[in-house]
Amino acid sequence: MTSFKDLGLDPKLLAAVSAAGYETPSPIQVQAIPHALAGTDVMGLAQTGTGKTAAFGLPLVQQLLGGHDKREPKCVRALILAPTRELVNQIADNLIDYVKGTHIKVNTVVGGKSINKQVQILAKGTDILVATPGRLIDLMDRRAVRLDRATFLVLDEADQMLDMGFIHALRRIAPELGTPRQTMLFSATMPKQMEELSRAYLTDPVRVQVATPGKAADKVTQGIHWAQDKGDKFDLLKSYLEKEPDGLSLVFGRTKHGSERLMKQLCADGFKAVSIHGNKSQGQRDRALKAFRDGEARILVATDVAARGIDIPGVSHVFNYDLPEVPENYIHRIGRTARAGAGGDAIAFVTGEEIGLLRQIQKVMRIDIPILGGHQPEEVDPPKRGGGGGGRGRGGPRRGGGGKPQGQPKSAAQGAKKAAGGGQGQRRRRTRGRKAA
Ligand code: AMP
Repeated sequence: MTSFKDLGLDPKLLAAVSAAGYETPSPIQVQAIPHALAGTDVMGLAQTGTGKTAAFGLPLVQQLLGGHDKREPKCVRALILAPTRELVNQIADNLIDYVKGTHIKVNTVVGGKSINKQVQILAKGTDILVATPGRLIDLMDRRAVRLDRATFLVLDEADQMLDMGFIHALRRIAPELGTPRQTMLFSATMPKQMEELSRAYLTDPVRVQVATPGKAADKVTQGIHWAQDKGDKFDLLKSYLEKEPDGLSLVFGRTKHGSERLMKQLCADGFKAVSIHGNKSQGQRDRALKAFRDGEARILVATDVAARGIDIPGVSHVFNYDLPEVPENYIHRIGRTARAGAGGDAIAFVTGEEIGLLRQIQKVMRIDIPILGGHQPEEVDPPKRGGGGGGRGRGGPRRGGGGKPQGQPKSAAQGAKKAAGGGQGQRRRRTRGRKAA
């Protein structure tokens, strides 16, 4: 079996890895580390939970340690971009473990925190900067940071960043970086745009991957429970939660308002629940995550964007209270459980309006998700959202009144046509998903 030493890591990092409790390298680490150490660009297809942070982080630290460049005021030597504040903090926490006892300085910049403090910290110089793109651009505009000395760039969870208008941000950021540059791109899924990104920003990358696209963590047991309508879902969730009083459950809602309301309903029924979504301040998000991590709250209700990439050991259940509108997000969501080799359950509640989404998910996953219970409802068109003050944020389907084809049985052929999608529809769905989160 390959050891960390076999991968070419130097003794300082071997000690750090062992102090972090890693015994053997994970498959993505075995594949990526030797190339990354050799300075080759890497394009990695790996979900969070596979050990990808160390796959790029360890080679990055080793190369910085071996380099002759010194930290200089305002300058950055390596830049890591990630989509959410939570993921930035998580990556930085891992890196801080790897650089213990060295001179390497890791800093983070994320939105929602004092920019003046970040300006002060950056003024002293940074070896590795982990950042969300938006705040980094704010700091570039203030001339608080210089990237021209940065010769390493990591784009983590790149597919998620695409959903957030990342292409525009990258067009601003990448030209500021130094040359030659080593670039590593990691993504849980490989939509077409990833190839374009790779062509634009990577040079002859090696491709590494630990799972075929769409393949979920092997140890996740997936299931579907049919719900006749949105109103059924709350009782269903309660019955599952009551069966597992010691479980740690992550519940995904579609909208900020719906997730907040669900969290409050659960608390009113005596469950210890917290929530994270785009309407929460950074302080509230941090407190909620801490309560969930510490086991003080056994239920975390979250929207996709807020929960992206968070690494919480011991999540036993992921509930898809609402199915995601972008099928790939289903894979991200269920990847929150069964981490670090443990098992986990991923249960989706599906109404007639969500059957079309379910079909798309099963197509991407290339599996039929087993049915756990309930009676399959008749497939109906989802309510039209967006226009005319649509149902977003109201948590449930609009009934009556519409005149739109809601509530009408939908033929399989119609559904299949929709599932086959086309770029435009996909883009629209992505936009909606982003706003909703
Ligand atoms: P990541 O996919 O980078 O988010 O990593 C998921 C979790 O696995 C983190 O808590 C890491 O600290 C941990 N981890 C990473 N590499 C290893 C390894 N080789 N052995 C055991 N745990 C690891």
